[in-house]
Amino acid sequence: MSSTHQASEIVIVGGGIYGTSLAYQLAKAGKSVTLLEAGEIAGGASGGPGERGVRTNGRDFRELPVCALSLELWSHYQQAFEGGVGYRRIGGIKVFDIPYGHREHEVMGRMHAMAAAQSSLGAPSEVWSRDETLSREPELAAGIIGAVYCPNDGVGDHTFATQQFAKEAAKAGVSIRTQAKVEEIIHTRGVATGVRLAGGEVVPVGERLVIVANAGAQTLLQPIFKPHEFSPVWNLMPQMHYVSNPLNKKVNHLISHAHRRLAVKQIPDGTLMLSGGAHVAHTPEGLWKGSLSSMTQNVTDAIMTFPFIDHSTFMKADASRIETVAADQIPLIGQTETLANTLYGYAWSGHGFAISLGFTKLMTDWITSGSKPEALEAFSPTRFHKPAALLRSAEVSRAA
Ligand SMILES: Cc1cc2nc3c(=O)[nH]c(=O)nc-3n(C[C@H](O)[C@H](O)[C@H](O)COP(=O)(O)OP(=O)(O)OC[C@H]3O[C@@H](n4cnc5c(N)ncnc54)[C@H](O)[C@@H]3O)c2cc1C
Repeated sequence: MSSTHQASEIVIVGGGIYGTSLAYQLAKAGKSVTLLEAGEIAGGASGGPGERGVRTNGRDFRELPVCALSLELWSHYQQAFEGGVGYRRIGGIKVFDIPYGHREHEVMGRMHAMAAAQSSLGAPSEVWSRDETLSREPELAAGIIGAVYCPNDGVGDHTFATQQFAKEAAKAGVSIRTQAKVEEIIHTRGVATGVRLAGGEVVPVGERLVIVANAGAQTLLQPIFKPHEFSPVWNLMPQMHYVSNPLNKKVNHLISHAHRRLAVKQIPDGTLMLSGGAHVAHTPEGLWKGSLSSMTQNVTDAIMTFPFIDHSTFMKADASRIETVAADQIPLIGQTETLANTLYGYAWSGHGFAISLGFTKLMTDWITSGSKPEALEAFSPTRFHKPAALLRSAEVSRAA
């Protein structure tokens, strides 16, 4: 079956925060865009309960400049869209203890070095003493040594944000098709010319095809990638825990911890959302099964950080959303070597929401200008093979 529709200039596969925000920006830049989503908008990692951390604090330094750009854009769209994008800039702190066997000067040194590096990479950061931290976040356990504070960090309602971008994209002229699973990329002479949907329909591609299908990306790209483009990625399902707040305590910031796998957020109804802990199994069918060990670890770390949480009641666990992770925990963004008009971005590695608007702005610039922004170079999959190849040739010349 083939399509009678005229080709859109840009065809995007994936209706999460990446697909919807990219579609919106490209439409605003004057492109005709079709977005294809296998299920519903925000049906993947960009949907589900609670909020996502919108965080620069403690991020991989290679991501920081793009994340700083992204935070500006979150603020911008919060103002620009009617109803906003569910973004709340509440500031974020990373809490430090003195772990067993460490010395105070080491921990303080690390905090100051981290704050300085983050600030110079675009994410303003300052070190708070113990007293200052406890005065601003009084429910923290008293044994802490201090915190690194990022005033621009916050939280976002990911489901709402994704739906808002889809709504604004549709208003800007994007054709959004849900229940449209792409099964195959069709190409001739080094150019993607269409995609085949489950059911056989072919959706034609005008200028560019963009794959931002997260856990579905690798399957689509596999037949296109050359062996060395294949990068080490895997899928995980982070488990989130929700507990009640019977003492009506207040957590003022987005909280993370330097020595515990922990994130704490208080969502607008007062409920506490605990995450950052262990993940649960992902099966090829996408099935999920909550894990008691993940819950135990995460809740224990939360109580050690905020003792009042010991009074809470366990409400629910959710581990229904799949995320793709790269071996070095930063994303893969590139253009396939085989198909010059096909771009992709995935492997956001568990922290792709905060940085999404920065990446989709840069991908928009790439598509509209025809040149890859230098800021994306760090995320090229060539990082997994090029350094070794360079050294191999150095060895040959040394031997000669
Ligand atoms: C539980 C959890 C907690 C997280 N917490 C944070 C956090 O606190 N801070 C943060 O910054 N990030 C966080 N993340 C990461 C962040 O949510 C993701 O990186 C981000 O939402 C990924 O967006 P996406 O658009 O690439 O993917 P998705 O939202 O997964 O969208 C991809 C879409 O592609 C569709 N698709 C797949 N295959 C096909 C196909 N063949 N044809 C058509 N469509 C297809 C899927 O149905 C899906 O809707 C978390 C992720 C999870 C799962």
